[in-house]
Amino acid sequence: MSTAAARHQELFGTAPEGAWAAPGRANLIGEHTDYNDGFVMPLALPHNTTVTASRRDDRMLRVHSRDIPGPTVEFPLDELTPHMVESWAAYPAGVAWVLQGAGHRLDGADLYFESNVPTGAGLSSSAALEVATALALSDLNGLGLTPDDLARHSQRAENDFVGMPCGILDQMASAACTAGHVLYLDTRDLSRRQIPFDMAAEGLRLLVVDTQVKHAHADGAYAQRRAECEAGAAALDVPALRDIPHAELDAALARVEDPVIRRRVKHVVTEDHRVEQVIALLDAGRARDIGPVLTAGHASLRDDFEISCAELDLVVDTANAAGALGSRMTGGGFGGSAIVLVEADATETVGKAVTAAFAAEEYVPPRIFEAIPSAGARRVSLPA
Ligand code: ADP
Ligand code: MG
Repeated sequence: MSTAAARHQELFGTAPEGAWAAPGRANLIGEHTDYNDGFVMPLALPHNTTVTASRRDDRMLRVHSRDIPGPTVEFPLDELTPHMVESWAAYPAGVAWVLQGAGHRLDGADLYFESNVPTGAGLSSSAALEVATALALSDLNGLGLTPDDLARHSQRAENDFVGMPCGILDQMASAACTAGHVLYLDTRDLSRRQIPFDMAAEGLRLLVVDTQVKHAHADGAYAQRRAECEAGAAALDVPALRDIPHAELDAALARVEDPVIRRRVKHVVTEDHRVEQVIALLDAGRARDIGPVLTAGHASLRDDFEISCAELDLVVDTANAAGALGSRMTGGGFGGSAIVLVEADATETVGKAVTAAFAAEEYVPPRIFEAIPSAGARRVSLPA
C-alpha cells in the first residue's frame, strides 16, 4: 500500500477508493488579465496536490492535510456556509458547497491531501487543492465534470466560500493544461488552444525562481487591483478591459482621468497584446524571441500595475544582466515566483547570479527549478 493510502486508512479507518492529482502552474504571460476577460498562457508544473478519497454513508465531509499541522476537520455537508471556516479546509469545503449549490448530490467523503506545490509562492497551490477536490468528488459521485466545470466550480469556491476574488487562470491551468504544452486561453469564453512548448528541443530552459517571500498586503491589493480595473472599464464604457483594442490604447488612456486607473488600464491592454505577441512568436517557431516580451511584461507589472517587490525585481534584473533571454514575475505579485528564460547552457550561470544577489541582500535563498510543462488534473493510480 502507498504511504498515502496507509495514512488514509489510519486517519479514517477505511481504504481510499482512489487517488486524484491536480498540478500547480506557472503563467508564461498574461498576468492579471483573467478578471478582465483577457488572455492568459499558463503551463502546469510537475508539482501536484494529490488527494486520496473514500465515500461515507453519513453526510459528513472530513478533510486532512499532511502539509498543515492540525487535526482532521469535519463538516456536515448540509450545513456548509461561506466564510464559516478560516483554515485551509475552507478550500475543499468550498468546493463541496459549490457542487451542491449547482445541484449535484454528494455523498459524505473522507479526503486526505499531500502536496509538493509550494504554498503561497504564486504557483497556485490553492487551485491545485480545489481542482483535486473537485475531480475526486466528481468521480466518487459519478458527476462526470469536464475540465471547464472543475475550473468554474473551483473558482467559485475560492471567490464565494473562501472570499478571494481571483479570476479563472489558476483553476483552468490546473484543470485543463496538458503535458508538453502551454495553454492559450481566452478567459471570456474559455476557448483555448494547446500550444506545443518544448524548450529543451530549442536548447532553452524555462526556470521558476521562488523568492519564498509573501508580503502581507497581497490579498487586499489583489482585490483593489480588480476594483481599479473595473473602474477603468466603467470609465471607458466597455464590459471589460479586454474590449479595448491595443491599437486604440492611447485614445482610451486619454479618456481616463485618474492617473492610477490609467496605469492599470495600460497594463491590462498591453498585457493582452503581449500574449498575442508570444503566441505569434511560438507559432512561428521563434521561442527565443519571447524573452524581451516577458521582460516588458515585468516592467508593466512593476511600473503600471505596481504589484512587484524588491525581491522579484532583483531576480529579473540579475537574471537578465547574467544573460537570461527574458524574465518576469508570475502569479499575483508582492512576492512569490518569477520565471526566467535562458539558453540551456546559461542555466547554471544565471541561477548562481540570482542566488548570489539574494545572498548579498541577505534575503532568504531562492528556490530555483525548471518549469517542465506537465499534465493537468487526472485520476492517478495508488500508490500516488
Ligand atoms: P498560492 O495559490 O499561490 O499557493 P494562496 O494564498 O492562494 O497561494 O493559497 C495558499 C493556501 O492554500 C494555503 O495557505 C493553504 O490554506 C491552502 N493550501 C495549499 N496547499 C495546501 C495543502 N497541501 N494542504 C492544505 N492547504 C493547502
Ligand atoms: Mg492561490
